[in-house]
Amino acid sequence: MANIHDNILSTIGNTPVVKINKLAPEHVNLYAKIEAFNPMGSVKDRLALGVIEDAEKSGTLKPGQTVIEATSGNTGIGLAMVCAQKGYPLVVTMAESFSIERRKLMRFLGAKVVLTPAPLKGSGMVQKAKELAEQNGWFLARQFENEANANMHSNTTAPEILAAFEGKQLDYWVTGYGTGGTLKGVSRVLREKSPQTKVIVAEPELASLLRDGIEQKRNDDGSPAESHPSFSPHPVQGWTPDFIPKLTGDAMASDEDKTIVTVAGPKAIECSQNLAQQEGIFVGISAGATLAAALQVAKSAVQGSNILCMLPDTGERYLSTPLFEHIQPDMSEEEQQLSASTPSCQF
Ligand code: PMP
Repeated sequence: MANIHDNILSTIGNTPVVKINKLAPEHVNLYAKIEAFNPMGSVKDRLALGVIEDAEKSGTLKPGQTVIEATSGNTGIGLAMVCAQKGYPLVVTMAESFSIERRKLMRFLGAKVVLTPAPLKGSGMVQKAKELAEQNGWFLARQFENEANANMHSNTTAPEILAAFEGKQLDYWVTGYGTGGTLKGVSRVLREKSPQTKVIVAEPELASLLRDGIEQKRNDDGSPAESHPSFSPHPVQGWTPDFIPKLTGDAMASDEDKTIVTVAGPKAIECSQNLAQQEGIFVGISAGATLAAALQVAKSAVQGSNILCMLPDTGERYLSTPLFEHIQPDMSEEEQQLSASTPSCQF
């Protein structure tokens, strides 16, 4: 079949599952689903297409209407691509604490980015998006509550995983959560079609909202009524906002069998760097965090277990963050010595 697409949107999804070799203990088979292969480099391209096409079908989004969303970046970048292709203006609200690359990418794709103060955390940017939507009659994507987010994962991510493991038992599926769209959408399909698969939910050690078990207070529409008391700022961008999103809450309530694993920030960063340098897999901090959770699971997994972890986005989104802190633009001493070791092109 010719690999020609009518437009960029049909290249979303169908991301590869790749075996992790050097970083995995020998007694298990560890695999990663690399969502960086989506056109804008993250898992959120799926949500963006799912939410917009669902709203088009239901008529809640009118031709040419402005779309607005609160996002830590990847959703905004995915929405910016989808809105650019389909011709909807896009406004994004985002806390100033997320990486500069994210803002620039969205603006490059034609979106407007309204920053919110970092101390007001994730719920601040959500509140701002709601206000702007109400005042201007814009379509609010509501990624944290929108069922179209989880449905997209049930319809694409989950069948891709089942197809990849056809004829092989998938023992563990490991994911973090930002909205919980991936978690809710995939885990309900696995429960039905691959009931032997254990679902592992990872969250940052500094924001172990699920592990701590304190209920999230919500408004009638499912949005958070207040910040969760177990939250503190953590370096895993895209994971765990300062509240338990409705989609995550639904997923946790629907199945008693999920295991919660916490990951320390430095470990997440180390795993992301190891993926790049030992496996040639260039992904972000939440990907490193998910791998770290998978490695914890692997420790107690029986011989020959198959483990799949989700790697949500590309490492290129983190050039200005602690992930790249140890990477200097200038030549190191070793590089200078290499330069001096032959006659040409010296400074
Ligand atoms: N990692 C990153 C980098 C993300 O941007 C997101 C989405 N916010 C996630 C993980 C989690 O995905 P989901 O929203 O489906 O839970």
